[in-house]
Amino acid sequence: MIRVGVNGYGTIGGRVADAVTKQKDMELVGVTKFTPDYRARLAVDRGIPIYHLDADGKAKFEKAKVPTSGSLQDLLKKVDVMIEATGEEIASGNKAMYEKAGVRAIFEGGEEHELTGFSFNSNCNYDGAKGRKFVRVVSCNTTGLCRTLHALKTNFGVKKARGVLARRAADPQEVGKGPIDAVVPDPVTLPSHHGPDVMTVLPDVNITTMAIKIPTTHMHLHSLIVTLGKKVTAEEVVAAFQREQRVMVVEGKSGFKSTSHIIDWARWKGRPRNDVYEACIWKESVTVVDDNELYLFLGVQQESIVTPENIDAIRAMMGTTSQAESVRMTNSSLGIAEPAK
Ligand code: NAD
Repeated sequence: MIRVGVNGYGTIGGRVADAVTKQKDMELVGVTKFTPDYRARLAVDRGIPIYHLDADGKAKFEKAKVPTSGSLQDLLKKVDVMIEATGEEIASGNKAMYEKAGVRAIFEGGEEHELTGFSFNSNCNYDGAKGRKFVRVVSCNTTGLCRTLHALKTNFGVKKARGVLARRAADPQEVGKGPIDAVVPDPVTLPSHHGPDVMTVLPDVNITTMAIKIPTTHMHLHSLIVTLGKKVTAEEVVAAFQREQRVMVVEGKSGFKSTSHIIDWARWKGRPRNDVYEACIWKESVTVVDDNELYLFLGVQQESIVTPENIDAIRAMMGTTSQAESVRMTNSSLGIAEPAK
């Protein structure tokens, strides 16, 4: 069993912790929590051990009568791998702590590539994580772009990719963030960081991006224009996406008229927290102009798309399982369909 801990039991850390509990080859040793809030109480109810951060945290949890199993330092003594999901302002500063404790750690997409020197995506570079002490699982948008471009690159070659990302402004519980009634160029100075971030995983893909923030909380929507390496038809491109791991081709004619309908699909499917682990490509949007210029819409559920990547990254670092087997195990545990052969 691979022993896993989670530092930062929030949007990403909470989902990865749950996914760890579903793996036959992993044990969730515990998660850290700052405050004894409803999420801490729910974790206790579900048998997930909580670790406080320091003496102040210990006192807060004791006062609220929420039991903890020790401190973060205690947790570090019991794990093989930590998921470091505290977020941009804290995570990178924790690297030295993991080094000192001799514990492997997975950082998330808010961190710089340089922090770990290796940016991970299961479909693109699983084997490169083997034996590494530190790995960064790329962000939600980069994960969606990597899966999409991997399918195109391996099937047709990619001469260049250009994307406009309409980004959700906040996650649902982030009530203090906006905009409520505006569309915000973010950043105004172009290009955006998303293109270079894709190149940390796919260095030979020529990609440039720009992004806007829109007043929604549940998904990002990318408009992509990709010049392919050869003449193709839309049908060939759709078939390539249907063969790619964790890409879901959705059809407007089946009711997928918007990102809301994708979330509704997840609700009706009974996915936890309405999670959508797949990169969603609208079939009808897949259009080829001038023989090799491809247009498409891609939807990314920001809170959940990196969950399977974190699970695969654990196995990749530990060197216990091949890429194909890890992806199969993760997909089966999370209810992700296997692609067409
Ligand atoms: P979050 O704010 O939802 O969760 C962070 C958690 O860490 C919170 O529960 C917070 O209380 C806790 N925390 C804060 N300081 C801590 C400390 N010192 N020690 C322990 N815990 C502490 O953040 P998130 O959205 O899950 O983001 C985490 C990482 O994942 C970031 O790098 C982010 O860029 C990346 N990411 C986020 C999303 C997304 O859409 N939310 C998508 C992909 C990747």
